[in-house]
Amino acid sequence: MPTKEKQYKWRREDYQENTRGLLMVYTGHGKGKTTCALGLMMRAAGQGLRCCMIQFMKSRNDRYGEHVAAEKLGIEIHTMGDGFTWDTKNPAQDRETANQTWELCLEKLHSGDYDMLVFDELVYVLSYNMLPVAEVVDELQAARTSQPALHIVVTGRDAPAELIEAADLVTEMREVKHPFTAGIRAQRGIEF
Ligand code: ATP
Ligand code: MG
Repeated sequence: MPTKEKQYKWRREDYQENTRGLLMVYTGHGKGKTTCALGLMMRAAGQGLRCCMIQFMKSRNDRYGEHVAAEKLGIEIHTMGDGFTWDTKNPAQDRETANQTWELCLEKLHSGDYDMLVFDELVYVLSYNMLPVAEVVDELQAARTSQPALHIVVTGRDAPAELIEAADLVTEMREVKHPFTAGIRAQRGIEF
């Protein structure tokens, strides 16, 4: 991946020495978790940080607004899911897809190529027991130990206690109102 430091007045070694990598969790039932993570990546990319988002659950066949915008900003996004499956028809397939997606997360975590990694809807697959929470938290912690400046962001409803315990920052989006309850469906540029 090409680095962009040249446009910035900082050196990677100095950045890494002066940065305390954070584990950040955006959870809760209100809308705004994924868009918050995208906003953070936009800010980080603007500073020349190397960012990558891996999306669990979202269908690999869909191209959302954020995918088009991320390309323009040099932000890497991988969408790996089969689509949200609240009423899943095939739990074995869901588990298999979650495992494959987690494998890619591990590859990125171990690569040392990034300053910020975002695992979108990872919390969702944890709360549905598609991946073992303890193992996932251990891997996140191990990556943070070997790369102390790495920022990791995870999103999704119902964050488990172990993840909250491990995190430096946890924000819970609380639904006050959502247009869905008034019968307004997902709209272009707002949901996708
Ligand atoms: P966004 O991607 O808009 O930031 P989110 O990441 O907080 O939303 P998720 O829990 O990932 O939301 O849910 C995915 C989809 O469900 C989004 O399209 C979102 O608009 C919708 N959604 C989120 N919260 C609610 C809610 N309280 N009621 C109905 N639909 C919701
Ligand atoms: Mg989301």
